[in-house]
Amino acid sequence: MFGPRIYDSVMAKTAPSDLTLPASGESCCSENGPSEPLIGGRGSAVDLPRIERAVREILLAVGENPDREGLLETPARVGRMYAEMFSGLSQDPRIHTQKFFSEQYDEVVLVRDISFCSMCEHHLLPFMGTAHVAYIPNGKVIGLSKIARVVEVISRRPQVQERMTEDIANLLGDELDAKGVAVVIEASHSCMTIRGVKKPGSSMVTSAMKGVFRCNLSSRAEVMQLIYGRGR
Ligand SMILES: [Zn+2]
Repeated sequence: MFGPRIYDSVMAKTAPSDLTLPASGESCCSENGPSEPLIGGRGSAVDLPRIERAVREILLAVGENPDREGLLETPARVGRMYAEMFSGLSQDPRIHTQKFFSEQYDEVVLVRDISFCSMCEHHLLPFMGTAHVAYIPNGKVIGLSKIARVVEVISRRPQVQERMTEDIANLLGDELDAKGVAVVIEASHSCMTIRGVKKPGSSMVTSAMKGVFRCNLSSRAEVMQLIYGRGR
């Protein structure tokens, strides 16, 4: 019962669910723009035939023949892929935070290395990496897999890494009424590695600190040490 609890994750598995959300505009790799909270889901399903028509148009626009054998099934395949990559738009991650347990534990709970793959909203190219999520409970704790599921749902949306980091932190802060929440995300962005400046190997780190992690330097240092410290 003493000291921090650290859990090395567990690959976040796809966590289908339901509920609602809006989109906002920030930049892909680091500038910040206006941001709206992206918590719930829109509730609408992906329009597959519409994606298929659009993909066919793209193929024509790049000078391909969408009717050649190798491309015949491509629009439908891409449609299914987008339905999967953007499944978080129609889901509310809060369904995973409804069940919690009362426990008088007021040290850090940390789940490290939750892998995810999201989509940059500026290029519709994937960015992928790991999320580290920590909180200090305020009388209630949730199952560890639920934290991974929250990351999974939020990751399956077109967005920028900065907003994804904030959304996870805000959601857990609100839902758990935690004394503090810290979210650190490290990711590699395809839009930086395969196009534009083409810098493979570069990664982006974002963090969101709430509650005591924001106002107490030693708590913040402790959680960063737990994420990156000894044994890593
Ligand atoms: Zn991008």
